[in-house]
Amino acid sequence: MPIRLALKVDVDTDRGTRVGVPDMVADLQDAGIPACFLFSLGPDQTGRAITRVFRPGFFSKVSRTSVVSIYGVRTLLNGTLLPAPHIGRRNAGVMRAVRDAGFETGIHCHNHYRWQDYLQKMSLEAVRGEFIAARAEYLRIFGAEARTAGAPGWQSNAKSRQVYDEAGLLYASDTRGGAPFFPRVDGQVFATLEIPSTLPTFDELMGRPEYPDAKIVPHYLSLLRADQPNILTVHAEIEGMGRRQLFRQLLAACQQAGVEFIRLDDLARELLANRAAIPVRDQVMAAIDGRSGLVAGQAA
Ligand SMILES: [Zn+2]
Repeated sequence: MPIRLALKVDVDTDRGTRVGVPDMVADLQDAGIPACFLFSLGPDQTGRAITRVFRPGFFSKVSRTSVVSIYGVRTLLNGTLLPAPHIGRRNAGVMRAVRDAGFETGIHCHNHYRWQDYLQKMSLEAVRGEFIAARAEYLRIFGAEARTAGAPGWQSNAKSRQVYDEAGLLYASDTRGGAPFFPRVDGQVFATLEIPSTLPTFDELMGRPEYPDAKIVPHYLSLLRADQPNILTVHAEIEGMGRRQLFRQLLAACQQAGVEFIRLDDLARELLANRAAIPVRDQVMAAIDGRSGLVAGQAA
């Protein structure tokens, strides 16, 4: 059995959609590698807020670090809400071009900031409202319903699983680690197949002394497994922009090592052909290396 690897591309911001996505599409086409692009479809509050907070001169009297430590990051973001660019309305052409180039597409979110920071506090109605807004924008852009979704920041719970089931997705990819499964949350088993990301993300490795750039590609190669599909989540804003070169090196090294790149929707169909063989696992929130906060995963 060859080593198999699928790429999931999270697209978080307006700029990442406009700049990072077309560059990443070009790199993947050069290499002949498939990927699934998951779009943020509503207002870009995250990017706008962060840009503003860290813009030179925004805080003229106090250092940015001390402002953050005094008020807390969340308060600063809340206080800097501006008319946010609507990613779907501004980038429909870019998104359709991804599909027209033969790549799989799906939903990352409506409002990235809201889902990542507030999902765990939101009511079922609020979660449903977010996801229905994302589905409506996806349908407007692509002329067909989304068949897959992967949540911002791997934030998932029983409410989001319920609205995924209501959408009749082919599969979702909201969790970290392990083999594909049907999630059980708060005692309830959900019907949408979950395909976890199995590998660390670039941003979880970057900037750590044990992973200088020269060690990142060999590290990934050492993590690839032959006994289950490998899934790597990349970001249009990272691997499609500042770390484009390193990402291309990783793709080339995988190809040289004989890794077979597969599509997530093909993998989902292959798994669902033998639905009874897919295990049910408890979904829990847990910490992972190199990332702050908790992310969804399957219980050991
Ligand atoms: Zn994201």
